[in-house]
Amino acid sequence: MRRVAGWLIVVGVVILLATVVAWWLARRYKLLPSQPVAQIEPLPAAPVSAVPAPALTPLPSIEEAIEEATPTPEPTVLTELPSTSNVGDNSFVGTINLIIPVAGVRPNQLVDTFDDARSEGRVHDAIDIPAAAGTPVLAVAEGQIVKLFQSERGGTTIYQSSADKKLIFYYAHLQQYAPGVVEGMLVKQGQVIAYVGDTGNAGAGNYHLHFSIAVTSDPKRYWEGTNINPYPLLHH
Ligand SMILES: [Zn+2]
Repeated sequence: MRRVAGWLIVVGVVILLATVVAWWLARRYKLLPSQPVAQIEPLPAAPVSAVPAPALTPLPSIEEAIEEATPTPEPTVLTELPSTSNVGDNSFVGTINLIIPVAGVRPNQLVDTFDDARSEGRVHDAIDIPAAAGTPVLAVAEGQIVKLFQSERGGTTIYQSSADKKLIFYYAHLQQYAPGVVEGMLVKQGQVIAYVGDTGNAGAGNYHLHFSIAVTSDPKRYWEGTNINPYPLLHH
């Protein structure tokens, strides 16, 4: 009986040890393969999925943003510039009534030379109205003579403000001023203020009136302002 009991104890201990060993082995082999897998998976997964994916995603997105951003302002600028000048022209077409500032010239004789190129990269920003020497130059609207100026390019010139002080009218290449015209005087529409000539850089014998209209915020700074096309304002 003691031997049998002793064998049972030995067998029980062996079974217990075997179970412990089996449990230990099972746990070890589970941990060993599970640890490398867990290490291999996160490591490549992290660099592969994190580094290239975000790196590829931002790079094209930035390029796309740049490519999209670059063409976007261009059309915006291109559409804004003409629309602004058109709005400026159109906004004054209905609100101010101008006459052709050269006596005897009809609307269908006018030529739109606003965008013509001039020397040194300048743009004309004005209208040239050919006429015989000495033809009366008329005030396009009522207003005030703000400056009589001798200009190298413009020759004998007149700066006139509109009655509301929002516009500056500029007459150039004048032969001479009309009698009595002085700075500060008020003029009425159609009043003779000067005579057509070829002074300044008009070219000898190239008699014409160079006429421009500037939108200004301060008529005392008569030489500044943004030129608008006189043609649609005169051609009606
Ligand atoms: Zn001109």
